Amino acid sequence: MFKALVVTKDAESGKTAASVQELTLDDLPAGEVTVSVEFSTVNYKDGLCIGPGGGLVRNYPHVPGIDFAGTVEASDDPRYAPGDKVVLTGWRVGEAHWGGYSQKARVKADWLVPLPDGLDSRQAMAVGTAGLTAMLSVMALEDHGLKPGQGPVLVTGAAGGVGSVATAILASLGHEVAGVTGRPETADYLRELGATQIVAREDINETTKRPLEAEAWSGCVDAVGGAMLARVLGQMKYGASVAAVGLAGGAGLPATVIPFLLRGVNLLGIDSVMQPYDNRLRAWQRIAKDLPMAKLDAMVHPAGLQDLPQLGADILAGQIKGRVVVDVN
Ligand code: NDP
Repeated sequence: MFKALVVTKDAESGKTAASVQELTLDDLPAGEVTVSVEFSTVNYKDGLCIGPGGGLVRNYPHVPGIDFAGTVEASDDPRYAPGDKVVLTGWRVGEAHWGGYSQKARVKADWLVPLPDGLDSRQAMAVGTAGLTAMLSVMALEDHGLKPGQGPVLVTGAAGGVGSVATAILASLGHEVAGVTGRPETADYLRELGATQIVAREDINETTKRPLEAEAWSGCVDAVGGAMLARVLGQMKYGASVAAVGLAGGAGLPATVIPFLLRGVNLLGIDSVMQPYDNRLRAWQRIAKDLPMAKLDAMVHPAGLQDLPQLGADILAGQIKGRVVVDVN
């Protein structure tokens, strides 16, 4: 027997409910590798899947948790053997497939990545999908020419998960970082992560009739989307790039094409879910090298399986600061 957070759906009312329950190995879905999960975390999608599902969950009962880190317990795949340390993010695990809010998980070998040297399973989940996505964003900006010394890089939703890790990585790589936050009380926290400038959300959230403003940012990691992303496009320096990661402020994009045409601005889409294996591995190795572990520790709030229903609601309300690490045991 082992413990997991199980979400059930009432057939009549359609309402979902999440509670910690005992399961057996026979309850787990099919897969080549069974993992003894050590840590998981809380992402925006987890908030949806712990709650009413947001259209992401196909079948109930469901075990959410879009990422986890742990130790291989059994494997039918030659790439993994019992005792191997592994990490999983994406592939719709925790949505279409049972996920990491469980002491055991069974998944496809293709979905796993070996834990890189220099990271333990707790640190891997302090990074989690949010941090992996932050690293993928930084790599995409670098691939499009971003170098330290070109001026401040903007990070929107800075006090959130993606934003916190992006701030710490960029600062440690020697970039000036400007963090946009709607929570002024997080300014000291953001400065500790390495932000040199704090931008108030309301200063950048409103639409403007001007498609171009003064050139301010040498790059941007955008977790917010919506009107903020539209506004940021018009503030980018000539030839600079924006990595579009999230939609915390909305899925719309009320923008003009003028920044693309007159300033050669690039809008780079970042997807962590279907990211090919080689780039995933490269991103995890870069994280182990370029994310200072002391800064990562400063972002972390510990939690257990029983805390997840509340944390799911908190992340949907934009109330989580930094990264939650869930010890499932
Ligand atoms: P968090 O909730 O931890 O962070 C989001 C942050 O955005 C908040 O902390 C807040 O930051 C800011 N924010 C929230 N609501 C608004 C609003 N209405 N207007 C402006 N800013 C707002 O989530 P994550 O960091 O985990 O994820 C961020 C986004 O990235 C989500 O939309 C998520 O779905 C997406 N995502 C995408 C991935 C991909 O593969 N593309 C992978 C992972 C996440 P502050 O308080 O500092 O203003």
